[in-house]
Amino acid sequence: MTIAATALEGACGGALTGAAVRLPNATGLHARPAAMLVALAKKYQSTIRLVRGTDEANAKSVVAIMGLGTQNGDMLRVEATGADALAAIGAISALLADGCGEQLEAPASTAVAPPAPAQASLVASPAVNALSGVCASPGLAVGRIVQYRQDLIVVAEAGESPERERSKLEAALMAAHKQIEALKSGLVDPAGAKILEAHQELLQDPDLVELAVAGVMQSQAAGPAWRLAFMQYAQRLEGLEGSHNALLRERGTDIRDVGRRVLALLAGVKHSQIDLPQGAILIAEELTPSDTASLDRSKLLGFCTTTGGATSHVAILARSFGIPALCSVDETALTLAEGTLVVLDGAQGLLHHSPSESDIARAHERMTQQAQRREQEKTQANDAAMLTDGHRIEVVANVRNATEAREAVALGGAGVGLLRSEFLFDDRDTAPSEEEQAAAYVAVADALGPQRTLVIRTLDVGGDKPLPYLPLPKEDNPFLGLRGVRVSLEQPAMFRTQLRAILRTAGKARLHIMFPMIATLEELREAKAILAEEAGATGHTDVKVGIMIEVPSAALLAEQFAREADFFSIGTNDLTQYTLAMDRGHPKLAKKADGFHPSVLKMIALTCEGAARHGKWVGVCGGMASDAMAVPVLIGLGVHELSVSVPAIPAIKALVRRLSFADCQRLAQEVIQLGTATEVRARLAIFAD
Ligand code: PEP
Ligand code: MG
Repeated sequence: MTIAATALEGACGGALTGAAVRLPNATGLHARPAAMLVALAKKYQSTIRLVRGTDEANAKSVVAIMGLGTQNGDMLRVEATGADALAAIGAISALLADGCGEQLEAPASTAVAPPAPAQASLVASPAVNALSGVCASPGLAVGRIVQYRQDLIVVAEAGESPERERSKLEAALMAAHKQIEALKSGLVDPAGAKILEAHQELLQDPDLVELAVAGVMQSQAAGPAWRLAFMQYAQRLEGLEGSHNALLRERGTDIRDVGRRVLALLAGVKHSQIDLPQGAILIAEELTPSDTASLDRSKLLGFCTTTGGATSHVAILARSFGIPALCSVDETALTLAEGTLVVLDGAQGLLHHSPSESDIARAHERMTQQAQRREQEKTQANDAAMLTDGHRIEVVANVRNATEAREAVALGGAGVGLLRSEFLFDDRDTAPSEEEQAAAYVAVADALGPQRTLVIRTLDVGGDKPLPYLPLPKEDNPFLGLRGVRVSLEQPAMFRTQLRAILRTAGKARLHIMFPMIATLEELREAKAILAEEAGATGHTDVKVGIMIEVPSAALLAEQFAREADFFSIGTNDLTQYTLAMDRGHPKLAKKADGFHPSVLKMIALTCEGAARHGKWVGVCGGMASDAMAVPVLIGLGVHELSVSVPAIPAIKALVRRLSFADCQRLAQEVIQLGTATEVRARLAIFAD
């Protein structure tokens, strides 16, 4: 570009205006070209504005420039007032005409100038329109993306003097700048570094900072003033109309990112409810069980996390919500713009992020069919889960509280096969008293009544299940450390309190107490001895005592355990992770940590054989029990009870009624001989929902 193109066309009111420049950037002035333009503009003292028709923006403000929503071919002029106005107009107009640092001629398909990840996701090619992940919960949903990066940051609403709040804000902006600098130095990818530079530019953005400072000067505390300012700018960008502005809308995400960074520096981060609009499909790197549990189910249609696997706790929660979910989804999902319309196919493990109208119509059609089938299954939900040859299976539910227990009964559940007691008390700062616990357990028992089974699992924390009021020491291998029953045996007072509270449900339902993560007979004996003392003191000695089979040692020694336990319940989620030595939440291993692996099936077979020798019953309460493909095999291996997520009860019962026990046994013996999970899955695909 030559300087000729920047010839001055006029001056008005002391301002000089450059010649119009046609914008060559394919996607307009998004964050990085805008940041480059701003960096140049800041070298001049003059006040500089970018003008398009009647719109204009401060040329020293990235957010203002992005807010113009420029598109390829727009005619822009540079207007400046000040001593160096002429030089500024010349330099900035030239930069504009040159594309502000963007490669202009290279076709999108070449390897030149790799786009930011956010842009890569928007390439309109069917191959990249679906992101894959691990099915955490089946089902189909059409909804809009809500990005969730981290906990909402709660800032102090009341501040000190405006001067003091202003200096807090300035310090936080500076600290954020340093943080990003440190991040940049760890990056090898120049494109990534450019994005971070743009983020740093946002921290110094005069319009943005001025807005926040204005709030502070009007007596707002630094936190709320900053949040209001960056949210306003982000929303302005996200609200831009037209498909051409999709990328610019995404830049709202950049502002939110930077905004949150500063906010975190201004205040302590606290867990807080995730605010969802109606019809949301939530995308997050990870969700803690309490994050997930606090989601508003009436607004949430599904979710995807880039970490975790089918056996992680978010997957369990998704199944209990009866909504589709993916774990370990492609990280590009994190770059999808807020509000993007998507089709989430849980069963196929796919997130379609640019669905065509016919894709959406097809999805709706399938959803209608599925809903009709579910309705049909519900009408028969109270029929027994009897196989065609008369063999009977108990279909019970995994629940977290009395509400879910009531739902389970309403959907035909024969009882509760797993009450995850830790969920009753995970969102509090202090340990619950015996009274509080008893009230919660009794409420679940009352929801079932004296004829139905209630299996209460004692506290199962540690590993991926932290408990705020029970800070466990940091461990190198938390899944192999103090977890499950080991925590209870370490904290006998807490264990005894829980047992006394549980025992108060005796008689109100058919009470079964179950210890999680038993690995040795000594652990079972120790836990039973403590229970016997508490039961003796309360007079409730008729309680059944069982163990979860989720560690290979327990499966291998099932016969010995069956001598001393009344029942087994197989936790396939943990049994899979411990058999295959693959962390159930590991983002890279999630697809391989598969309960259909023949080694896991053999563990289940051993458990059933051991139990049968002593006439004890075996349940499965891990995620496999809710998986239609696994059900025939589990039954064929000798499992008596399937404890499933509440919404799955009618469908699993309907499936059981279509099977014959003899066929299930043959199938189980066949698949257990196979070599890989893929082979097993292929053989069982006919049962997929
Ligand atoms: C399991 O491990 O399969 C199980 C049911 O327990 P949790 O998922 O709660 O660890
Ligand atoms: Mg477990």
